[in-house]
Amino acid sequence: MARVWKPETCLALLVAALAVIAAVWILGPRFGLLASDESSPGPADEWAPTRPASAPASAPADTRPAEKWSPPKFTARQRERDAMVRTIRSYGLDDKGVLDVMAAVPRHEFVPGRLAGSAYDDGPLPIGYGQTISQPYIVAEMTRLLNLKSDSRVLEIGTGSGYQAAVLTHFTPNVYTIEIIKPLAESAAERLKRLGYTVVKARHGDGYYGWPGDVQFDAIIVTAAAGQIPPPLIEQLAPGGRMVIPVGRAYATQSLMLIEKLADGTLRSKRLMPVRFVPFVRGSRSSD
Ligand code: SAH
Repeated sequence: MARVWKPETCLALLVAALAVIAAVWILGPRFGLLASDESSPGPADEWAPTRPASAPASAPADTRPAEKWSPPKFTARQRERDAMVRTIRSYGLDDKGVLDVMAAVPRHEFVPGRLAGSAYDDGPLPIGYGQTISQPYIVAEMTRLLNLKSDSRVLEIGTGSGYQAAVLTHFTPNVYTIEIIKPLAESAAERLKRLGYTVVKARHGDGYYGWPGDVQFDAIIVTAAAGQIPPPLIEQLAPGGRMVIPVGRAYATQSLMLIEKLADGTLRSKRLMPVRFVPFVRGSRSSD
């Protein structure tokens, strides 16, 4: 036989049920009730983007906090490196941070073995495929002009031997580099890994378009001479960012230019000095 509930009993049960629901609703989150793992804060905070929320979205790998990074140390040929640094200083470059890095990166590891004896001369050297590793003074000066900080994100166009990329990692672990000649891209990536510059993100491709994806850089360094500044690279320069690029005709004297993108997005450029770089070329090539 069905049991008939008195109205007072029904009301009391309803009030009790509402009280239980209210208690779970208010106190639940404190004790882990209701909240799923995905929505809870906690450890996920460690993976917050390192850039302000207003910055454009970037590839997931780029939003991680700066990796804990200390560059490898080298002792071989230190006296030759120190002599090279004295030469660079004699040209008037006296930024201690940059000079210390030039004294630390083993340039002889980045040139063909038969040229290792000339690695610390202040001149460019051939690295194969008609390309050259830049003169140490130019590497130092271009690096200085970028004003890198420990959390800067920097893009290099023209990996070549990987030497400039290695220099950049001594300032920031967020180094990206693109090389258009496939065998050079591959050997530089392998060399950087072997020497311990494991944080460098290196790829083969046409650097005209910048790094693939929706990402911006605080600094861009182009190590091949372009007739004009590639517009996609201007796009990838973050507000407040700096780009150093040789601009001018191939196989002629070009101008080293510093381009600054101000906080409001306007551009400012300065012609700095005459230089001679290998040409900036277009289109992916598998060999040369
Ligand atoms: N920074 C290098 C020197 C690079 S020489 C070093 O430290 O050794 C310039 C390099 O730019 C060459 O290797 C050349 O192949 C590359 N290059 C020229 N045009 C390019 C382009 N559109 N995209 C990417 N790399 C390019």
